[in-house]
Amino acid sequence: MVDNGKELSYRLVPSTCVYCGTGCGVLLEVMDGRVTGTLPQKDHPVSWGALCVKGWAVHEFVHSERRLTAPLVRSGGELKETDWDTALAAVAEGLSRVAKEHGPDAVGFFASARCTNEENYLLQKLARAVVGTNNVDHCARL
Ligand code: SF4
Repeated sequence: MVDNGKELSYRLVPSTCVYCGTGCGVLLEVMDGRVTGTLPQKDHPVSWGALCVKGWAVHEFVHSERRLTAPLVRSGGELKETDWDTALAAVAEGLSRVAKEHGPDAVGFFASARCTNEENYLLQKLARAVVGTNNVDHCARL
């Protein structure tokens, strides 16, 4: 492929759609090192060449300027970038403080359709076995 006289590299990279736990097979179009499009994998054992409307657009977030690239922690009413150790410590401190002050059922866990079944299983395990609440819900139910 040529653009303004410059030869562009182009390749298709097999991958998995990350928008839900179904795991449809995609081919990411990569042009000059940038992900520019999505095609379905026709021989994929999950999706057999089909993608939903979200799957066709799965490449769009890769180079988005709005993409979060670091965890955020609220401090003084503002969200501030931080490292993962600090963010996870803030989550653990917040969860244990609320559960201690108001009881475990004051805490709720909200799972995501973008996670795998195994990740959602671990989230409910954290809620039930560690915090001690059955308050677990999922965005796909809304
Ligand atoms: S969002 Fe759509 S294309 Fe992506 S894995 Fe789920 S069903 Fe498949």
